[in-house]
Amino acid sequence: MSDGIVPVGDLSVVGGGAVGLTCALAAADRGWRVRVFDAGPRWRAAHVAGGMLGCLAEGHPGQDRLLAIARDSVARWPALLARLDDPHVRVATDSLLIGATPADVEHLRSQVGFLLSQAPSDADRLIARTARELRTDEPALVRGTAGGFRAVGEGAVDNREFIAALHRSLDAAGVERVAAEVTDLSQVPGDQVLVAAGLGTRRLLPEVDLRGEKGEILRLRRTRWSVPPPRHVIRARWHGRPVYLVPRADGLVLGATQYEAYDDADRAPLAGGVADLLADAGELMPGLRTYELAEAGAGIRPSSPDGVPVVSRIDDRITVAAGHGRNGVALAPWTADRFVDLLDEARNGLANALSDKQIQNTIDTGV
Ligand SMILES: Cc1cc2nc3c(=O)[nH]c(=O)nc-3n(C[C@H](O)[C@H](O)[C@H](O)COP(=O)(O)OP(=O)(O)OC[C@H]3O[C@@H](n4cnc5c(N)ncnc54)[C@H](O)[C@@H]3O)c2cc1C
Repeated sequence: MSDGIVPVGDLSVVGGGAVGLTCALAAADRGWRVRVFDAGPRWRAAHVAGGMLGCLAEGHPGQDRLLAIARDSVARWPALLARLDDPHVRVATDSLLIGATPADVEHLRSQVGFLLSQAPSDADRLIARTARELRTDEPALVRGTAGGFRAVGEGAVDNREFIAALHRSLDAAGVERVAAEVTDLSQVPGDQVLVAAGLGTRRLLPEVDLRGEKGEILRLRRTRWSVPPPRHVIRARWHGRPVYLVPRADGLVLGATQYEAYDDADRAPLAGGVADLLADAGELMPGLRTYELAEAGAGIRPSSPDGVPVVSRIDDRITVAAGHGRNGVALAPWTADRFVDLLDEARNGLANALSDKQIQNTIDTGV
């Protein structure tokens, strides 16, 4: 907020992950005075995420609503990237969907069939590729996959560059960033409060039904003997198991396992998950064996029961944006736009309430 401009209202955001920061920036751009409270990267799923901006590869039967939201959000990403104005954020523009065996490709084909039944216009974005064509796209792929698809426009961002770019944009917009864990919402200042604390949301708002889905994820760094990292996001179905590679400037992210988390504080990667990821990726792209294992991490996805994020009002002052599960980076722009619409409604409601009060005063006083 620039000096001399009167803010339209005062907003506190609890949670400085992918969702909270994107919402904070959108609100600042609408003229709100904003501060963000954040407990730090250790509790942030966005710190470990792959950064894929997928809707096509995430569309599964029964998840029609999530698919529609994801498609909408992915379409909003170019505007967010332009707003951040940082060339290091985006790392890929397309994905390759690859099957190890004919059964794996059949699985992908049925997924593509579902997607096209939902949005036939996506046909020109989902292009069938033979194994040979996939190796032309990515020469380091193993020979003899069973083929797959190219998903045009299914890109990825570097999650950590994304958060860093959001911090810079927020600082430039005059947003205050407070390193603190919030334990009591009644103590949080502001006309409006957004709770976007990922899995931490359920401690502040127990009525929001969230579950944790843990996942191991690895960061591999290229050495001088290595094949170059892929240029596309590679999402493979490898003998029935999903595995993905997401490019980074110095290597790639290799992910990810998924299973129920029993403890919100458990961010320790299990040996079994790490071993499975390395085994599958090593078969998919044998040259990865010469990469350094730079980081083995794990995060917990904050998921709603039906996979659809919860972006709604709790009361006149508090709004929640949580439950983004596997897709919180991809869904951030949709969430932010939906949140600022809710803020506008709150402000208009307040304005209407004030003018009702003025009318009442006028009637009461006869003025
Ligand atoms: C292994 C893995 C891979 C993933 N890959 C992808 C991917 O490729 N693409 C994609 O779109 N999504 C991916 N995700 C999902 C994505 O990371 C999440 O959906 C997203 O981070 C959710 O954003 P959020 O802001 O709601 O929560 P988070 O990113 O978890 O951020 C929550 C923030 O709130 C803070 N906080 C918590 N409690 C409090 C409190 N009481 N007071 C103050 N601050 C608090 C935390 O410190 C944290 O910074 C992945 C997740 C995992 C675990």
